[in-house]
Amino acid sequence: MGLFEKILGIFKKKDVTVETRGTTAPKPDEPEKPAVPERPAPPPTNAIPAERAPVVEGQTSAIPPDEKVPTTAQTDTKEVKPVSDKITAGHVHMSGCTGCEVAIADNYAGLLTLLDKYVDWVYDLTLADVRHIPEMDVALVEGSVCINDKISVEEIRETREKSKIVVALGSCACYGNITRFCRGGQQNQPQHEAYLPIGDLIKVDVYLPGCGPSPQLIKNVCVAAYLLLKGNADQQALATAYLKPLMQAAERGTEACFCDLMIDVIDQGLCIGCGACAAACPVRAITHEYGKPQGQRDLCIKCGACYNQCPRSWFSFDVVSQYEGIMETIDAAMQE
Ligand code: SF4
Ligand code: SF4
Repeated sequence: MGLFEKILGIFKKKDVTVETRGTTAPKPDEPEKPAVPERPAPPPTNAIPAERAPVVEGQTSAIPPDEKVPTTAQTDTKEVKPVSDKITAGHVHMSGCTGCEVAIADNYAGLLTLLDKYVDWVYDLTLADVRHIPEMDVALVEGSVCINDKISVEEIRETREKSKIVVALGSCACYGNITRFCRGGQQNQPQHEAYLPIGDLIKVDVYLPGCGPSPQLIKNVCVAAYLLLKGNADQQALATAYLKPLMQAAERGTEACFCDLMIDVIDQGLCIGCGACAAACPVRAITHEYGKPQGQRDLCIKCGACYNQCPRSWFSFDVVSQYEGIMETIDAAMQE
């Protein structure tokens, strides 16, 4: 044993720490500091907190069991709309006051249901930014046609060529209505002096008379047109029954006049004195005397309005016998 080992052995027996090269001994009067635990790195600012992170299969969730967080599949669920099954329709504005368009809008929530489920509105100069008449299933034509205006005449013909069903929407389109009185001289279009109902220029499939037509009638006809073009056999039969009188009115067009009303209704004892004919006549050629209509034939312009508005001039067994089924089908379509 060398001298160094002997000296080291003496110090070890006396419990004395020996400082060797490369080590530092703590000072006897300085308390030893506890070890500081390592701090976790802060998360990045855009990181999802662990408790909000989506659960990955096979990984333990940090979400408390009573807290429900929608999964990705639930939040990404999209509304399914049968867009491809819709019919296409549009509003063609001839010479009218836009009152019939307002009647369409007067369906309020019903109009939204129509647009959501059944009808793609592809043309409407007032509402849609489409400048040229497209191909469409149903064209709702408002207003009469100014025959002094070449563009109007071309437009109504183009509408007929591009539409499967043409609907005369309102009394101006059906009978001319107030536009029959136009004799020109308007400040901006003085040459516009003659207007005709659209049925005098093109073949019309359905008449929806009224100034303006009732919103409910417009809605029903749109649903019936959808069922006719897209429905099953039963629905098509009901839609046809509903549309038939309106199609017959379109076929009759402006041919009937007060003389026909006299022959077919009044002289047959069918008149109930309701006054609808007098109210519909645009030239006040009909008055009521003793509860019965009297016509002044020299005033009559043979527009057909009185005959078509008379509730006794037509009778549809189809509509009467199937009325409940028709209405239930239309109501069910609007509530689905
Ligand atoms: S009586 Fe009046 S509503 Fe009837 S066809 Fe003549 S103008 Fe038209
Ligand atoms: S609309 Fe027909 S039922 Fe009514 S008063 Fe005129 S003719 Fe008579």
